[in-house]
Amino acid sequence: MPDKLEKYRSKRDPNRTPEPVPDTPVPAPSTGGNAFVIQEHHARSLHWDLRLERDGVLVSWAVPKGLPADPGTNHLAVRTEDHPMEYLTFHGEIPRGEYGGGTMTVWDTGTYDVEKWSEREVKFVLHGARSSGRFVLFRTRGKNWMIHRMGAAVREPFPSVRPMLPTERARPPRDAPAYAFEFAWGGRRLLVPIDGGRTEAAREHPWLRELAESFGSRTAVLDGEVARLGGAELLIFYDLLYDDGRSLLGEPYEARRAALEALELTGARWQTAPSWPGEAGPVRQAAREQGLPGVVAKRLDSPYEPGPSKSWLFIPS
Ligand code: MN
Repeated sequence: MPDKLEKYRSKRDPNRTPEPVPDTPVPAPSTGGNAFVIQEHHARSLHWDLRLERDGVLVSWAVPKGLPADPGTNHLAVRTEDHPMEYLTFHGEIPRGEYGGGTMTVWDTGTYDVEKWSEREVKFVLHGARSSGRFVLFRTRGKNWMIHRMGAAVREPFPSVRPMLPTERARPPRDAPAYAFEFAWGGRRLLVPIDGGRTEAAREHPWLRELAESFGSRTAVLDGEVARLGGAELLIFYDLLYDDGRSLLGEPYEARRAALEALELTGARWQTAPSWPGEAGPVRQAAREQGLPGVVAKRLDSPYEPGPSKSWLFIPS
């Protein structure tokens, strides 16, 4: 019987990696097991490793964007070497410089049913906590495969919207308790869509790559501004339009703001904007003292209204 793990072993030194490296050939095949695991792997480039038990090993693919949520979008899946069954529960830190160096966590695990298995096509149904559904992997060229979700989408479509823009007013609104007051930052508006640990906003701002990776498989669309504060470019977030597969556009600002705060976005290059409900005076005063252009009053009960809106008011300093 050929040693299916020869390649796996050849890439690893058991003295240098915490990964299981069995030195005996694979046990007898066809145990009939049908386990699967998906590991989230923060290696040089974030990806998810999909592994399906087959004839005593875990047949593996690296999926850079993770499982597709929608039948209309197929994701690349790169076939990697078969892994030992012991890998089913592996999680840990593979040292930098070693093969696959980085943090690996178990994203989901469970069983699967195989519907078809050939050299070019694998059709299967996952029964996991996070990843139920029917999928097909099909080979396109060499090691490259695509993974396609069959059946219905598991999340709402990503909103493609223009940013909500405030209307200018000379004075703060009279019914202050209906509003939250925030600084106007005078920066450049930026919507940041995050999907599969990646964001297209990183093309212009490469430092956002780290933010996107920190989201793992969680989807989001953030709204904010790139401002220059203390000489450094900083992204200040003040709204959340989409969260974890669900559009928040119809939710009141108060609810979107609570969801944004729950994300606890604080990093060297990004911050959640402070927001003070109910009182304009002290915020205006602070904006003046800090040389900011003014304040923005945001109606707490307002949905997200793309384009110019009277639910957001810009009051100059
Ligand atoms: Mn990997």
